Amino acid sequence: MILKEDRYFFEGGIDPLDLAGKYDCPLYVYDGAVIERQYRRMVNAFQVPRLRINYACKALTNISVLRLFKSLGACLDAVSIQEVQLGLKAGFEPREISFTPNGVNIDEIMEGAELGVKIHIDNISILEQFGHLRPDYPIGIRINPHILAGGNAKISTGHLDSKFGISVHQLPHVLRLAETLKLKVEGIHMHTGSDILDAEAFLQAAEILLNAAYQFEDLDYVDFGSGFKVPYRPGDISTDIDEFGARISTRFNQFCKDYEKDLCLVFEPGKFLVSEAGYFLVRVNVVKPTPATVFAGVDSGLNHLIRPMFYNSYHHMTNLSNPAGKPRIYTVVGYICETDTFGVNRQIPEIREGDILCFHNAGAYCYTMSSNYNSRFRPAEILLYQGRDHLIRKRETMEDLLHNQVDIGILSKVSV
Ligand SMILES: *Cc1c(COP(=O)(O)O)cnc(C)c1O
Repeated sequence: MILKEDRYFFEGGIDPLDLAGKYDCPLYVYDGAVIERQYRRMVNAFQVPRLRINYACKALTNISVLRLFKSLGACLDAVSIQEVQLGLKAGFEPREISFTPNGVNIDEIMEGAELGVKIHIDNISILEQFGHLRPDYPIGIRINPHILAGGNAKISTGHLDSKFGISVHQLPHVLRLAETLKLKVEGIHMHTGSDILDAEAFLQAAEILLNAAYQFEDLDYVDFGSGFKVPYRPGDISTDIDEFGARISTRFNQFCKDYEKDLCLVFEPGKFLVSEAGYFLVRVNVVKPTPATVFAGVDSGLNHLIRPMFYNSYHHMTNLSNPAGKPRIYTVVGYICETDTFGVNRQIPEIREGDILCFHNAGAYCYTMSSNYNSRFRPAEILLYQGRDHLIRKRETMEDLLHNQVDIGILSKVSV
């Protein structure tokens, strides 16, 4: 967002306050130009013969966003069969979708195979079952390299007692199954966790994965998952994508030379591609001074944006209605009947009731983690694309809340 003469604008020139007026609040807005820029940054960072970027769509699954990625040339990473189906609906070819679920049963994996998508298997039990049923079907193996990384315990996936992936120490078992069942292992995969602060840890894990890759004879790709960090606070460090890309490319090209085959280098970023493209606009319902704190209560809560409460994550806030106001200290809270604090002791230009606040970094894991708690409607979503705003999801209505509820008749006639 750009501040010009005391007013905020999206990069393409659209005024967020106009959108708040046109579509009402709370409102998710995604800037397609930012998504495109992040995608190009990622692609340009790697100098390898074959590169594939799978957008990890659980970050933001609106079908228009998926179609935008398709138009950019991205592929998709799906963690549920429903995400696979959304990807197909969005126009991705089955082989452009990688299915990387965790802890699902064999039926869901078989559904993926029937649809023809790439499959990543993350435990030995499923590997064995799948190998008996479809030894002909190419698979990727998700390895856990046991490198501790990740912004917090909830999203860290690489440590020793993590439920994700097949332990690298179980590689001999995997190799024995692959040989006995004549499995077609086409890929090797890892995803060590979100928010890697330290590129060095990632490279260590990559080294372990490449060592494992040497053990398989006929690979087509090596998938390093994700972990790319984006800035949330002003001044935050983020993954230096160009430096990272250069280091990984050098190492990977060397690996391909040793392996005597040009394998495809795969990454599956979610947050990096969409986090900064998203803005969440809310209206201030009430400004409430208490003996210790001034609360600003907004027309949203953990039902729409749970990251601050769930992960203790920081989302930067701006007061779109009063950019030139005198900064004061606020604790910004939601309207849910539970403590749902968006931010504590934030210095924000004076907030008045009715002002529109903007939460930044609202593209990844925001709408997709929303709920109907307190029977509130989920917000509308807007995509800014080619200079215009497009409604890509309507705000919910009472009908949506009642949609799957079944009236059993006898209870509607209850008398007291
Ligand atoms: C969630 C997930 C990702 C994306 O992680 P980000 O931190 O959003 O980049 C990638 N791969 C798999 C398997 C995932 O589950």
